[in-house]
Amino acid sequence: MNKIKSFLRVISIFAVGFILFQSAAAQSRVDRILINEAKRITNDTFPVFSETPKGGRIYSVNQPDSKMLKAVDDGLAELFAIARKHKYRNRLNYSDYTIFIAKADRTKDNNGQYSPDIAVAAAQYAGTIYDQGGYIYAAGMVLANNPCAFVIVEHTKGFQRVADVVRYEGEHLVLYHNDRKLFNKTADHSQGGGHPILR
Ligand SMILES: [Zn+2]
Repeated sequence: MNKIKSFLRVISIFAVGFILFQSAAAQSRVDRILINEAKRITNDTFPVFSETPKGGRIYSVNQPDSKMLKAVDDGLAELFAIARKHKYRNRLNYSDYTIFIAKADRTKDNNGQYSPDIAVAAAQYAGTIYDQGGYIYAAGMVLANNPCAFVIVEHTKGFQRVADVVRYEGEHLVLYHNDRKLFNKTADHSQGGGHPILR
C-alpha cells in the first residue's frame, strides 16, 4: 500500500514537472516568434529579458533602467483600472504582456520636443499626414494580439510618456480580448482616431 502510494507520488511529481517543462518550452517557442517579429519591424535585436516589479515581461536592446520598468507598470496599472471600469475581465495580469523596448530612431519630433520614436514601414499610413516618405514615426506599436505583445522605445527621461504609450498600445490588446467590435473600429489610426480610446 505504502509502496503504491509513494510510487503514485513520484508519478504525479514527474507529471507536474513534465507539464511545467512543456509550458516553458511552448513559451520560449512563442517568444522566439515574437522576437523575430520585433526584429523585423525595428531592425533591433532584443538580447535582454527582464521582468517589471509587477511581472510584466520585457525584451530589450539594453538592460532597462528601473525608471523604464516602473513606467511600464504604471501604464499597465492605468490600463487595467480603466478596463475594470468597463467591466472587462480578460488579460488584466501584468504577466499577460510582453513588451519590447527598442532603440530610438529619433529622439526629437518635428517641433524639437523630446520624443523617442521608432521608424516603421508606412503600410496603411502611406499618403496620410503620418507618412515621412515610406515610413512613419511611432511611439509604440502592437506586435501581436494573442499573446499580447507590443513595442515601445527607450527613454532616458519623460517617463510619463512611456506610461502613456504602454497604456495606449495596451488599449488595443484589452479591446481585442474584451470588445472585438470596438477593437475593429479603433485598431487602424490611418482612418482617424487616437488615444485614449477608453475613458
Ligand atoms: Zn493606437
